[in-house]
Amino acid sequence: MKNFDIALIPGDGIGPEVVTEGVKVLKAIEKMDTKLSFSFTEFPWGCEHYLKTGKMMDDDGINKLRHFDAIYLGAVGYPGVPDHISLWELLLRIRKEFDQYVNLRPVTLLNQSLTPLKSKTEEDIDFLVIRENSEGEYAGAGDRLFKGQPEEVVLQTGVFSRKGTERIIRYAYEEARKSNRTLTSISKGNALNYSMVFWDEVIEEVGKEYPDVETYSYLVDAASLYLVSDPERFEVVVTSNLFGDIITDLGAGITGGLGLATGANVNPEKQYPSMFEPVHGSAPDIAGKGIANPIAAIWSVSQMLDFFGEERWGKAVLTTIQDMVKETEMLTPDLGGNAATGDVGDSFIEKLKITA
Ligand code: ATP
Ligand code: MG
Repeated sequence: MKNFDIALIPGDGIGPEVVTEGVKVLKAIEKMDTKLSFSFTEFPWGCEHYLKTGKMMDDDGINKLRHFDAIYLGAVGYPGVPDHISLWELLLRIRKEFDQYVNLRPVTLLNQSLTPLKSKTEEDIDFLVIRENSEGEYAGAGDRLFKGQPEEVVLQTGVFSRKGTERIIRYAYEEARKSNRTLTSISKGNALNYSMVFWDEVIEEVGKEYPDVETYSYLVDAASLYLVSDPERFEVVVTSNLFGDIITDLGAGITGGLGLATGANVNPEKQYPSMFEPVHGSAPDIAGKGIANPIAAIWSVSQMLDFFGEERWGKAVLTTIQDMVKETEMLTPDLGGNAATGDVGDSFIEKLKITA
């Protein structure tokens, strides 16, 4: 019997609504597989907690999370709480403290009807973005000089360490090799004359160890064009923190929107827990209405199961997502249906089974 301890941070807005459905899926798997069990501990952290206590999470929150096998997060964000507070004091804090330096964001078109790119099919849009998740443009380094004065100057410095750059690029090469796919690096060496020139150098150096992996290198502006005109060029993509953030939202845009986009924050060495979350935020406009799409959050469960080494179940969850999105009768309004969040989850667990 294998047991996995999961910390739940449902968070704000639609976060708790979609996490409920993800947990439902894990509980259904536990019932179907006598060799697997999951235990859940919930932490009430997020912006509502901040408004009550002045803190996004407990002071010793990181220590409380440390012994878990995974963290399952809904979303944090609330009108009235500045985004940089909710982001820095919870999400980015967990990512940094637990050295979750790999952000895995699949961009996969599940149903041709969901893409605004008229001529593209499911085969054309299927790639994995591996985003550097621990430093780069989001390192938090910078300053405001002469604040508020006419001569004010603001600095926001990207930080690219050799260790940090090599490890993400090596991880991406390993992934490309393992899955027999090409690797595309997205950077901006012509304009960012320190950081991105360095990035491109590391791609070349590390690439020498992987002569079997076909490598492409695009500027982020050109890549943005190709993501729309020729998404079939991309298989495994490796890029920096900021560029990865932007192009994965573009990826969501060409595959059906935020209701389907998932992201795993992974510490590959398993020194610390990894964190699984839908890419979307708290979506205050639809919170409490029971219409949030839970599929992104359920997809995070699939990534979590893969990470636990339970790939059969990870695949079963993904296959069920594919089937549901193809059938289209049980979908939330963002995908053109009229089902409620809970009904999608219930219908999901009825369909879920191991096929292999
Ligand atoms: P936050 O401040 O927490 O980032 P946000 O206002 O930026 O929240 P997001 O969740 O990032 O909102 O998404 C933007 C919009 O996309 C939402 O306002 C909502 O309309 C839609 N959306 C996002 N996630 C979902 C979902 N799971 N189901 C349905 N619609 C969604
Ligand atoms: Mg947002």
